[in-house]
Amino acid sequence: MKIGFIGLGNMGAPMAANLAAQHNVTGYDTVAKPDGIALASTAAAAAKDADVVITMLPNGDILRAVANEIHSAMKPGAVHLDCSTVDVESARAVAAQAQEASLQAVDAPVSGGIGGATNGTLTFMAGGPADAFATVQPLFDIMGQKAVHCGDAGNGQAAKICNNMILGATMIATCEAFALADKLGLDRQSMFDVVSTSSGYSWSMNAYCPAPGVGPSSPADNDYQPGFAAELMLKDLNLSQMAAAAVHADTPMGQAATELYKTFVEDEDGLGKDFSAMLPRFQKRTRA
Ligand code: NAD
Repeated sequence: MKIGFIGLGNMGAPMAANLAAQHNVTGYDTVAKPDGIALASTAAAAAKDADVVITMLPNGDILRAVANEIHSAMKPGAVHLDCSTVDVESARAVAAQAQEASLQAVDAPVSGGIGGATNGTLTFMAGGPADAFATVQPLFDIMGQKAVHCGDAGNGQAAKICNNMILGATMIATCEAFALADKLGLDRQSMFDVVSTSSGYSWSMNAYCPAPGVGPSSPADNDYQPGFAAELMLKDLNLSQMAAAAVHADTPMGQAATELYKTFVEDEDGLGKDFSAMLPRFQKRTRA
């Protein structure tokens, strides 16, 4: 396949490199110029004649701007596969714009982070027509370990932000429970042994335990170096609240998690730390 790849940052560069081992990839980024990928001088040039154009960009506004640049350059029937995490509305607007240009669009945000992008073990959650999903499935197989087709345009983004709203809230609940257990004199290993096999278990506790030295290896064991940075969690929580507001959904836990991560990132030195560093934050605090 001939592939255009736009947005060669922390995630895009290793994803493009994995594809380039098996396909003809031309990349473009306004700033990044990674080695090992053929580069075009504009986004439109990278998109021209491609069967699939992948975008991996910071946000919905940039995605919309890039879509404006590339859709007119793409050949009819080609697929615009957006793997960025963006708001549901932008994903649906870009898909509608693609359809008007006789293109197909799939929104397929990822989970798995930079490690997953490098190792080709990402999980994709995809929205868009079934035939377009089938066209890009072989690319998902190279870049990832799993791709779930979640329905129509925008549903990949919807699945991603719902998942991450749960993750943000459960990480906070897990961290505040550890900090409470500390103050009650319960040691962290006992807390883990009980909760990880009881009804309070979750991915945050069992697979990504925020307490150093307890449970499987996690960013907590590496001084809370990300992993998944608190500011990226904040980005996804903000998207969840934008989506909730648009459809009048009541999401009090998501809202509280958003406010806590905002304070953590903006006022409490959380910027650049893993999102599980909420535990030392709670450890330091007392009840208001
Ligand atoms: P990044 O900032 O490292 O990369 C984004 C790249 O887009 C940059 O290199 C930037 O120069 C480029 N760019 C910006 N505007 C552009 C334009 N107009 N044309 C071409 N290139 C442009 O970000 P990242 O960590 O690679 O994340 C990319 C997306 O993946 C984001 O939506 C993010 O939320 C999502 N994501 C990231 C992670 C992670 O762990 N980093 C995990 C899951 C999802």
